[in-house]
Formats: sequence, structure tokens, C-alpha cells
Amino acid sequence: MLGLMQEWPLLCHKIIDYAAQQHGNRDVVSRSIEGPITRTNYGQIRDRALRCAQALDRDGFKLGDRIATLAWNTARHTEVWYGIMGNGGVYHTLNPRLFPEQIAWIMNHAGDSAIFVDLTFLPIVEAIADQVKSLRKIIVLTDEAHMPKDSKLDLVCYESWLAAADGDFTWKEFDENTAAGMCYTSGTTGDPKGVVYSHRSNVLHALISCQPDALGIAANESIMPVVPMFHANAWGIAFTAPMVGAKVVNPGAQMDGESIYELLDTEKVTFTAAVPTVWLMLLAYLEESGKMLPHLNRVVIGGSACPRAMTQKFQDVYGVDVVHAWGMTEMSPLGTLGALKPEYADLSGDAKLDIQEKQGYAPFGVEMKVTDDENIELPWDGEKFGRLKVRGPAVASAYYGGAGEEQFDDENWFDTGDVAHINENGYMQITDRAKDVIKSGGEWISTIDLENLAVGHPDVQEAAVIGVVHPKWDERPLLIIIRKEGKDPSKDDILSFMDGKIAKWWMPDDVAFVDEIPHTATGKIQKTELRKQFADYTLPTA
Ligand code: ADP
Repeated sequence: MLGLMQEWPLLCHKIIDYAAQQHGNRDVVSRSIEGPITRTNYGQIRDRALRCAQALDRDGFKLGDRIATLAWNTARHTEVWYGIMGNGGVYHTLNPRLFPEQIAWIMNHAGDSAIFVDLTFLPIVEAIADQVKSLRKIIVLTDEAHMPKDSKLDLVCYESWLAAADGDFTWKEFDENTAAGMCYTSGTTGDPKGVVYSHRSNVLHALISCQPDALGIAANESIMPVVPMFHANAWGIAFTAPMVGAKVVNPGAQMDGESIYELLDTEKVTFTAAVPTVWLMLLAYLEESGKMLPHLNRVVIGGSACPRAMTQKFQDVYGVDVVHAWGMTEMSPLGTLGALKPEYADLSGDAKLDIQEKQGYAPFGVEMKVTDDENIELPWDGEKFGRLKVRGPAVASAYYGGAGEEQFDDENWFDTGDVAHINENGYMQITDRAKDVIKSGGEWISTIDLENLAVGHPDVQEAAVIGVVHPKWDERPLLIIIRKEGKDPSKDDILSFMDGKIAKWWMPDDVAFVDEIPHTATGKIQKTELRKQFADYTLPTA
């Protein structure tokens, strides 16, 4: 017997329809690429998205066409996403921090037929356009006054192109499992792999992530997605915010501490989300300027492990709650979030930070387990760590073009490539990427735990740990440190700070001081590069 309920396909453009109807006047503020702060609302975004869809249709773009975007977080970028999807196309966010050759490779792999590009990134498109055979339209996200005059490319001005459509258009209709968006993982090892979101998965992900113990945002909040739309589906915020009718404040191209602070303050932002490196810059700015964060209530930090010292500073100095989150492009991307269950509600001080250092627990819609190398499931005891595997309606079932098959098993479990443990209350803690973990005498050492501990030292700006070859133990940890400006801690200072806080055999064998630590295009420490830099390093213990 089947239920007698209506078929109501979960299509992304229904989210912007809803936002326009119920929250049509809600502000969407953006720091524009041209400079000034601009203001629009969900009603206008829907109107312009409809015109964008109509113009794409008029230009012959069809169901399933991949359409790239190379743009910052702005209202224009948002309306373009909805316009592409509403015409049955697939938005494909490109990460401008990749090398141009990588971007060209990704565009060819995806078969992108058009691109919407911010003025800032036009030089990238100019460098690679002739290498992307499928590309037939380049639309610059600006008005006539700001259009470049001397480009060798055939460029279309977005505002004029949009103005030529009257908006008398009905969203296309199709199955909810139709592709809606694409995002490639950064591919620190091997080629980048394409993740393809469906309308259904994006809508379900937004429903999952707006739960109170997940992002928990509501119509009366002002939220700033600092995490770029080109990074892991913008953590779903381009769907979650209109779904709940929250005000959105887009930071555009300026991510430095002062610019972020300015918007947090003037737009009275109550909720924001970004990777730790962004918050390092903001906290440094606040420290220098003596400014405070009176409006901000919550900050979600993920993408790499949130250092304990950062959580402590936000909470104790600025009165801002930290929600530590973990996810990945393949998971749309949210996987776990660190809201405190009743079991932990009364904790304070170090005991609370111990829980917040974990990446949190999975909301409804995300299943997870940890297994050993033989695929035997490990107990949830907060200690035994192994490969973290996940499944759910917003988790990838394959990569575009069939790459990386070995990461998916017959029961739909996706091997995240992360190493983690889960405690008795369901809180997961990442201890490493499988490829970064240090194998010392057959036992595993977590590089993330060591890094977290080292950055707790007051004179340390940033820390990275890699395994270095050792004749007796196979590999031993080397701690690599950037010192805070004007500080000069010694190796002994740092090691004695760590002593007693970790197992003796986890203690790094040496400390190297550097001026710079390489980062990937999504702000993670580039361990492959560090391992190359220190390939000939001889440990004093070797
Ligand atoms: P990319 O791989 O393209 O850089 P992703 O955002 O998809 O982008 O990366 C996902 C990976 O980032 C996860 O598998 C995990 O290793 C790491 N990660 C994300 N959030 C956290 C976190 N809170 N703590 C530790 N690692 C994290």
C-alpha cells in the first residue's frame, strides 16, 4: 500500500520561490566587486534569477548543461546559481585559488559550456578560454560602466544580458534527482574529482542543516557566509538562508580581518561560518584594534580542525559560541556539528573545550561508522580510531566520470579518507587524513592532535606535523612551526609545553621553525608539499 500524499519534487528553485513569497523584503547585502556595498532582497533575487534562466534558455542552454561560475559570494552569484538551476542547468563552481591549468582541466572534464565570471577573475579566463573547447559564452558579472574595454575575448556584460530578458518565464520542470550543481575536490593527490549534487540532495541538505542543533539559523538572524560559494557548495548556505528567510551579508572579495569586521559590525551579523585561517585574521585584527563583537552570537568553524585556543578566545574574550563542524565536498558538505547534547550541557572550562575540540555529531540524514583496515566496525569508545565512512541522501554515490570507485562500497558507504574515533555519545573526532597519519613502530600518531596542542602555545602562530623517515620506527613526527611576530620560542620551550599533555611516544622528535607553511586552495595545510620540503630531513634521533 502506498501513502496518499502529493508528489512535490524537491527542486532548488522552490527555495527561492518560497523566500520571495514569505521573506521577499529580507535584505541581502553584498560587498560588490566594483567596491560599494549593495543591497537587494529575496524578491529581487528571484526576479533576476528568473530572467537569468530565461536568458540562458533564449541562448540555447539546455537541461543538463554545465555552466561554470568563477566568482565571490555576492547576490549576483546567488541569483546566477538559481537561474542556472531553474533552466535545468548545472552550476559548476570553480575555485580561483587553483592554478589556471587545473581550472582548465576541470572545465574540460566537466564540459562547461558557459561561464559567469567576476571582474577579479577575468585574467584567469583570458589565460585558459582557448583551452576549453566546450566553452561558448563568457558572461562578466558587472554592468556596462565596468566592462573591460581591451579584452581579446568575446565578453558579454551580465547586466545588459539580464536586462534583455523580461522575466516572463516559468522554471523548467524535471525530476528531483536531476543534477543541480557540481564542485570538484581540490585533488591534493591525483586529479580533482567531480561531485555532482542533485536538486533533491541540495534541498534535503538545506533541511538537514537548518535544524536547531545543526546551523540553527532563523528568519530573525543576519548571517555572513564567509566560506566561499566555490568551496564545498558554500556549506549549503545559499540554500539554507533563503529556506529560513535569514538576512545574508556577502563579503565579496575582501576577506581580511578589517573588512570582515566592518560588515559584522555595520550589518549586525549574528551568525557566520568560515575556515580557521579566516578567523585567525579576524582575531588578529580584533586584538590589534581592541574592537569587540557585540552582535555576533555563533560562529561555525570547519574545513580544517578548529584549534582549541581559537574556540576559547571566541567564547571567553568575545562571548561568541563556537560550533565546530566537519564535512566535505562529497557530503554537500555538512557531516557533523558540535552542538552540546544534554549530556554535556553543564560543562565549562577545559571539560567543555575537550568536547568542542571534537568535530561533533551527525545530524539526521548522515550515517557514520569507523572501521579498521579489514572493514571491521570499531566500537564508539572515543579511543579506537580507524577509517571514517558515511552515507546519506546528500552524500555522493560516485564521482563524475567514474573516478575514485574504490571509495564507494556495495552498501553505499563512502570512505571519507579521514581517520577518526567516535565516543559513546556519538561525537566524532578527526585524528588525521588517512594519507597524513604517522605510522610509528606499527602504531598510529595523530598529526592533528599534535598541531592543536602546539598552536596552544602562546608564541606559536601556526603548526604542522609530518612524518619523517626513521631507521628504527619507520616514521617519527616532525613539528613545523611559524612563530608569532616578535616572539622567539625555542624547541625546548615548545616541547616542554607539550610534555605531559600527550603520550610520551607521540612527542615530536624535532621542531623546525619556518616563515611560511604551504596551504591548499581551500586553506588546508598542504602536507604533500611539506613532505617534499622536508624529504631529506634527518631527525636528531635517527
Ligand atoms: P578539499 O578536499 O577540496 O580541500 P573539502 O572541504 O571537501 O575540500 O575537504 C574535506 C576534508 O577537510 C575532510 O575530509 C577533512 O579531512 C577536512 N576537514 C573538514 N572539516 C574539518 C574539521 N573540522 N577538522 C578536521 N578536518 C576537517
